[in-house]
Amino acid sequence: MEVYRIDIPEGGGPVSLRACPIKTDKVAFNVYSFRPWQALSAHRHPGSDEVFFVVDGRCLFYVGRDTEALGPNNAVYVPSGALHAILSCERGATLVSVQGPQPVTSIYGNLKYFCPACGLEAPLLEGTRTGDLNTCPRCKTAVRLKEAGEAFDAFEIAPPGGARA
Ligand SMILES: [Zn+2]
Repeated sequence: MEVYRIDIPEGGGPVSLRACPIKTDKVAFNVYSFRPWQALSAHRHPGSDEVFFVVDGRCLFYVGRDTEALGPNNAVYVPSGALHAILSCERGATLVSVQGPQPVTSIYGNLKYFCPACGLEAPLLEGTRTGDLNTCPRCKTAVRLKEAGEAFDAFEIAPPGGARA
């Protein structure tokens, strides 16, 4: 039996976001450390399920057309093929996940925008279309979305508080 010591990775850029300390030919065990308001962009794993568990902090979890606020001790099952994204909240978050079977392939899409007021990368739900409205999860600026290649463009229509600009 091998015992692992896993140091929580420092939250950082996309490359250091995830550590994968244990990986076999069947499963991968991952540790994610998010800085405050850091996004894991929407993606899907065509042939592999994934189960997430929130160890610490809070995050918004996006699966398909649903979003939920998760905190410590919450777990989420993401079936193979389902779009999913994570956005940590003001204190950041630590999550672990298990994925299988291996090898896991990941397909990213354009389901995100960058808030024109605060710069946040905000994930979007499956089915988002040009013309849809959204509210920045961090600064609450209301925006209208337009599909534009790798991400949606977002145009401010109301500042935080809701008064029309
Ligand atoms: Zn914002």
